[in-house]
Amino acid sequence: MANAPPNYFELGRKLFARECAFVWAAADAARLPNPIAPEIAFAGRSNVGKSSLLNALTAHKSLAFVSRTPGRTRALNFFALGSAERPELCLVDMPGYGYAAASKALADSWARLACNFLRCRAALMRVMLLIDGRHEAKPSDAETMTLLDRAGVSYQIVLTKKDEVKTKDREARLAATYALIAKHPAAFPEPIFTSSQSGEGIGDLRAAIAKLLSERGQ
Ligand code: GDP
Repeated sequence: MANAPPNYFELGRKLFARECAFVWAAADAARLPNPIAPEIAFAGRSNVGKSSLLNALTAHKSLAFVSRTPGRTRALNFFALGSAERPELCLVDMPGYGYAAASKALADSWARLACNFLRCRAALMRVMLLIDGRHEAKPSDAETMTLLDRAGVSYQIVLTKKDEVKTKDREARLAATYALIAKHPAAFPEPIFTSSQSGEGIGDLRAAIAKLLSERGQ
């Protein structure tokens, strides 16, 4: 008899129920840690809902709060999921980009840090690129997608704040996202629409990550 297909929702639920602890902040490429586990990075514009999503994913109230402490907001923050000795997964919280008041120099420093991290990071399985599900993607989102295409990094669009998008408008938001994805070669074909508020899509995101992890282990 053939084996039953893995239940990635259940695997994802279990994975994200594990202990999650802050391990390291890297404000520049020289301070990047050696990988301790396969990595999933989270990127997006400031205010897209990244902290809320990380908290919802890990069912922690204040995990991403760590990323907000002074000196860490412009850093890559690494969180280990699983036991301290043998973590199963590392979540990498990338600094928010596209903040209106940020200077050009700051934007350049984001791109530099991101490029240095993304390039040749064999442990990095995928970047989850968060885009505000209420609006059209911003030019800085498209620029980031192009940067990821050029770096040859696999990434997946995660739309946020689904609870604030009327049911009748959701199809249009998804259609626009599929059209955007079609223009970007390194983008995973399926976006995930999430809400940290209502919990919609959080199980799908956990399942997508559990699937990646299990495929990597094969
Ligand atoms: P970050 O800057 O990307 O880390 O964004 P935050 O997680 O701090 O969220 C920015 C704002 O969006 C806050 O006011 C959040 O309460 C709000 N927010 C985040 N996620 C959601 C969501 O799923 N639904 C709604 N309605 N608001 C959200």
